[in-house]
Amino acid sequence: MAEAGTSLHPAPVFDILERARAGEPLDELDAVRLIECSDGELPSVLRSAAELRDRGKGREVTYSRKVFLPVTNLCRDRCTYCTFRKDPGDPGAWTMTLKQIAQWSRRGREMGCKEALMCLGDKPELAFRDYRDLLAELGARSTTEYVVSACRVALQEGLLPHTNAGIMTREEMRELRPLNASMGLMLENISPRLRQRGGVHQWAPDKDPALRMRMLEEAGELRVPFTTGILLGIGESAAERAQSLFAIGQLHQRFGHIQEVIIQNFRAKPDIPMAEAPEPGTGEMARAIATARLLLGPTMNVQAPPNLSPHEIELFLQAGINDWGGISPLSKDYVNPEAPWPHLEALANRCARAGFHLKQRLAIYPEYINAEWVDTAMMPAITRFSDELVGGLT
Ligand code: SF4
Repeated sequence: MAEAGTSLHPAPVFDILERARAGEPLDELDAVRLIECSDGELPSVLRSAAELRDRGKGREVTYSRKVFLPVTNLCRDRCTYCTFRKDPGDPGAWTMTLKQIAQWSRRGREMGCKEALMCLGDKPELAFRDYRDLLAELGARSTTEYVVSACRVALQEGLLPHTNAGIMTREEMRELRPLNASMGLMLENISPRLRQRGGVHQWAPDKDPALRMRMLEEAGELRVPFTTGILLGIGESAAERAQSLFAIGQLHQRFGHIQEVIIQNFRAKPDIPMAEAPEPGTGEMARAIATARLLLGPTMNVQAPPNLSPHEIELFLQAGINDWGGISPLSKDYVNPEAPWPHLEALANRCARAGFHLKQRLAIYPEYINAEWVDTAMMPAITRFSDELVGGLT
């Protein structure tokens, strides 16, 4: 890996863009050079990224209509940018019952949702006795075992689960695979520096990048269509963003399982230790999106959350995204509760004015709907949902 901010003999940006457009692989130094491009170079970088996106994805931009199911907000980690996590007994701490999972799933299905996003804190049972007792009352030995039941309920109610439960073992992913359309874990950043004293992940053992890379590898070995991405604005350098994207690209080359890469920006909130920390600027987001596209190629699904940058819809399209991720007509974004989802019709209109057609997709992308990537138990449901989407519903 190249050292942050050092590019011994960086190629001129023009050369890198020419190679990317010719379909040649870029290396880590190229990625660093792109993400550190000057304001003068940025328009060419965006143009080339958009050209690659058009080549691989055309002018269709997708989203998944979802219900966000925060199974539990208890978490053993303490990331300093997080407003989601709670300790047992804190006001607002919860663990959803299976009855609540069923009710929310049913309402979501009635509102046209197809995805149940199971998003929860990391391994609370290792930190909290109260929670272990609660799990026992609920008939589960671990959070993952409880999520397995939650996925089963969501499926019965007519949604396709996508689980993002933090670090899981190979065995846990194997248990969840027959009940999930796909799974996810943000790499966030590859730099171990962020776990050092004073770093955002000092008190978050599950944010060790080596652990996260290992889980991403194991997901590839298990043939799980996988969502990952980077989080901007948590103390990393621009070069470390590029290095993280490069690491994701390397994983995808080995296993082919990275179905989408999210470029997410940190948003400050009053109740977090990073309340006063600067948010990444639009130029930084555009550079990261374009670098992801140029590095990962025309066929990768590159995503940015529209609710975290409501004024940058057009810029992100220009920078090479082809997906807006999950959007819910029903439940809020519990990770960024201050940021409402865009109204789908308004988003479709803005996309149309920029020359794009907004289209609903499933929690699994069409290129992964085959026997290699979908468990036989999930295939009938996925095929049925896929048929429902034929015709391109916004
Ligand atoms: S970001 Fe995730 S892992 Fe970190 S404290 Fe919040 S819930 Fe826990």
